[in-house]
Amino acid sequence: MRVIILGAGVAGVTAAYMLGSRGHQVEVIEREAAPAMQTSYANGGQLSYTHAQPWANPDALPKVIQWMFQEDAPLVLRFSTDPYMISWGLRFLMNCRQKQAEKSTRIMLRLGLYSRDKLAQIRQATKIEYNHLSKGILHIFGSQQGLDGALKQAHFQESLGAKEELLTREQCFEREPALKNATKSIAGGLYSEVDESGDLHVFTQKLAAYCIDNFGARFTYGTEIQGIQREGNRISGVQTSAGLKTADAYVMAMGSYSPILLRTLGMKIPIYPMKGYSITVPAWENAPQVSITDDEKKVVISRLGDKVRAAGTAEFARYNDQVREARITPIVRCLSDLFPEAQFGQMSRWACLRPQTPDGPPTIGATRYENLFLHTGHGTLGWTQSPGSAHLLADIMEGRPTEIPMEGLEAERY
Ligand SMILES: Cc1cc2nc3c(=O)[nH]c(=O)nc-3n(C[C@H](O)[C@H](O)[C@H](O)COP(=O)(O)OP(=O)(O)OC[C@H]3O[C@@H](n4cnc5c(N)ncnc54)[C@H](O)[C@@H]3O)c2cc1C
Repeated sequence: MRVIILGAGVAGVTAAYMLGSRGHQVEVIEREAAPAMQTSYANGGQLSYTHAQPWANPDALPKVIQWMFQEDAPLVLRFSTDPYMISWGLRFLMNCRQKQAEKSTRIMLRLGLYSRDKLAQIRQATKIEYNHLSKGILHIFGSQQGLDGALKQAHFQESLGAKEELLTREQCFEREPALKNATKSIAGGLYSEVDESGDLHVFTQKLAAYCIDNFGARFTYGTEIQGIQREGNRISGVQTSAGLKTADAYVMAMGSYSPILLRTLGMKIPIYPMKGYSITVPAWENAPQVSITDDEKKVVISRLGDKVRAAGTAEFARYNDQVREARITPIVRCLSDLFPEAQFGQMSRWACLRPQTPDGPPTIGATRYENLFLHTGHGTLGWTQSPGSAHLLADIMEGRPTEIPMEGLEAERY
């Protein structure tokens, strides 16, 4: 099968790998000059398979209202006149119900653990290196109240087969000695051994090169996708700045930009850009190896070789991906409170747009068009979930049964 993949972020490149390794002829079209230059560029680096609680959950509601008036809040949701934002926001609110949040947790946990296996298989088959660390993720809590609140979710996830270890303050320091000098109070933590971390940008670039060298995949860079042509219930081609491109099948993997072109085909997929920020600083002596999540600040910190990355915050700014210093400051503060040794002289700053669905899980697989498939909407967990979701996508495109249920991942759920 000749397949055109739209977009060369982690979603597009993992799809290229899964399809290329099965003998399909793949072309990836990308407007940037290289893969992983947008949202897959400088993310938090966490492979947080067990971080399955969606943003939309019953506890989020009161917090979101409180955060509306706080400039350095982890999530800033402001009143907007954008109809897509309003419609997305209403769906988000509907998904904050307990039952729905539990359903999304189940779906995301299943996909996360499946993706862990698929990423391990990619590592084994390709031998690519991307500063992967299998040292777990430690969620730390500044207050006992915060920890108690998180235990509810941890117990629920344990009933689904994902156990987290409850740690005292001292046990947190034993797990990650670099936390010992923290100036902020740490009441305790939850540690998940199966979680991992790694550099998504390096991974995606090396995987793209692997696809070219081993499967003859074609990556067409510097090419803007301008439109999708349809004929009846089939896609007949993609209009690009380099002319019309045709194939047997097409995969939408344009991240936050996916819904714009899908709308021209009459498909209303509620993916909305949720802006996030990160900073990267040189690693200091004895910098952390265990990936950390500051639960209260919603900041994640990962060691990526000779660098330390801290990332977080969510704000709704449509398609504006400019760096705002006011949103960088809380991340800097969080990193220096936890690790006073961190040096900020050579710090780089970054912001980008997460392709966020209102319920949490991505949208994978078939659409109303016979030869158009989705691999997009991975939101806060695109690094964590893409190896698994790309495998599901390839199974669906080949008409095979998937290895895990597709419930809650299909486009039809909207
Ligand atoms: C601050 C931050 C921290 C994060 N931390 C984590 C984390 O720790 N763990 C985790 O699992 N996930 C994390 N994520 C989420 C993860 O990074 C994303 O889910 C993932 O990168 C999305 O990948 P994608 O391929 O869907 O999108 P992208 O990487 O954005 O790829 C889409 C591609 O499509 C291209 N494109 C778009 N429109 C066009 C067009 N018209 N023509 C041609 N090309 C086009 C773009 O240039 C881009 O390269 C984080 C995200 C952010 C912002």
